[in-house]
Amino acid sequence: MNFERIKEKLNILADAAKYDVSCSSSGSKRTNTNKGLGDSSGMGICHSYTEDGRCVSLLKILLTNHCIFDCAYCVTRKSNDVKRTAFKIQEVVDLTINFYRRNYIEGLFLSSGIFKSPDYTMERLVAVAKKLREEENFNGYIHLKSIPGASDELMYEAGLYADRLSVNIEIPTISGLKLLAPDKKHEDFTKPMLKVKNELIRYKNERKIIKSTPKYAPAGQSTQMIVGATGETDKDIMYSATHFYKNYNMKRVYYSGYVPVANDKRLPSIGSQVPMLRENRLYQTDWLLRFYGFAVNEIVNDSHPNLDTDIDPKLSWALRNLHYFPVDINKADKRMLARIPGLGMQSVGKILNARKFRKLNWDHLKKIGVALNRAKYFIVCDSRHWEQRDLDAERIKGMILQNSSGKFRNQYSSQLSLFN
Ligand code: SF4
Repeated sequence: MNFERIKEKLNILADAAKYDVSCSSSGSKRTNTNKGLGDSSGMGICHSYTEDGRCVSLLKILLTNHCIFDCAYCVTRKSNDVKRTAFKIQEVVDLTINFYRRNYIEGLFLSSGIFKSPDYTMERLVAVAKKLREEENFNGYIHLKSIPGASDELMYEAGLYADRLSVNIEIPTISGLKLLAPDKKHEDFTKPMLKVKNELIRYKNERKIIKSTPKYAPAGQSTQMIVGATGETDKDIMYSATHFYKNYNMKRVYYSGYVPVANDKRLPSIGSQVPMLRENRLYQTDWLLRFYGFAVNEIVNDSHPNLDTDIDPKLSWALRNLHYFPVDINKADKRMLARIPGLGMQSVGKILNARKFRKLNWDHLKKIGVALNRAKYFIVCDSRHWEQRDLDAERIKGMILQNSSGKFRNQYSSQLSLFN
C-alpha cells in the first residue's frame, strides 16, 4: 500500500464527507457471534463532534469526489474546481480494518459522489460492505449512503450488509430541488427509500415466524435536509420531515445548516453564517413531534411558519396557547404534563410515579429536576404560593429570558430591557 497516496486520498475524501451530518449510529444491535472483528451492539458507537457540531465518530469518507451531477449546494459538484480522487474498494476495506484495530474508529460511514451512474457507484459501496462482512468478519457499524436513483436490487443488497442506510433528500421542497439540483428527480430519493421501507417490514414480519431470518439494515434508514440553502420556511421543513417519518419509516431526519460553498446567485453568498441556531430549533421540534405527542401544525402553521429563535418551540407553543394553563401537576394526564415548558419526559415519568404517594409541591418538583424558572408560570401544585396568573405571554417570555443564562440571551438584551 502506498501510504502517502492513501493519506492524500483520505485528506480529500474525508474533508468532502464532513458536510453530511446523518451519521449517528444509535439503534443497531449487530452482535459479534462469529468471533469476528468488532461489535456494534449494546453501548453502540461512541460519538464525537467537531467544533461546529458535526459527528465524526466513524471513519467518515467518500468513495470518490468525482461526480457527474452539478448540485449547486455541494462542494463535490462537477463544475467545482477541486482536486478529485477515488478510493479503490480494497483500500476502504483495509483502512477500516486498520483504523478499527488501532481503536481509532468503531465503524464506517461511507458516502460517494456519483461516477458513471448511480448503479455503478452503488455497486461499489455495496462491495465494500460485503467484503468487510464476509471476508473480514467485520461486525462493527456500517452506515452506507445510498445513491439517489440506485436500483431496487442494489438497495436490497445494501441492507443485507449495512446497519443503516440513508438517502439524503438534501433540499426539503420539490421546487427547491428543481432549482438547485436539476439533474435529480424527487423519485430518485423516494424510490430507494420505499424499497428499504418495504424490506424492513418484510424482514421484520419474517423474523416473527422464522427467528433465524437475517437482519436487514437493523438501524433503519435516515435522511438529511439542508437548511437555509433555499427560501423554505421551518413549516416547509417540518412538514417534509413528518412526511418522511410517516411514509418511509425513517428512524431519523437530520437537519444540516447550509455551509456556503459556492458563489451562486441562487444561494446564500460565501461567508454567510451557517444557521446553527435554526438547525438547533428544528431538532428540538423534531424531538417534540417524536416523543412529546405534538402534531406538526401545533408548532408551525400558516400563522406561525418559522420557529422563534429566542425561545424553544415548546415554550413558544405554550405562550401562544395560554388558555391551556395553568396545569395542575397533581391531576394532569401524561400528555398535558409533557406540554409544560421546563418538563422533560424523564421529569414527567418521575411526577407520575411520585404523585401516587403524595401531593407534589414546589420542593418536590425541584428535587425531581423540573426547570422551575420556566415551568412556574404554567403550573399549580400543592403549595400555597404560586406565580401570579395575570401575566400575558409577552411578559412571561420577558421574565423567562431575563432570568435565563442561555447563550442566546445576550442577543435579545435590547428586548429584555423592556421588562426591567
Ligand atoms: S449528486 Fe451528490 S455528490 Fe454529486 S453534486 Fe449532487 S449532492 Fe454532490
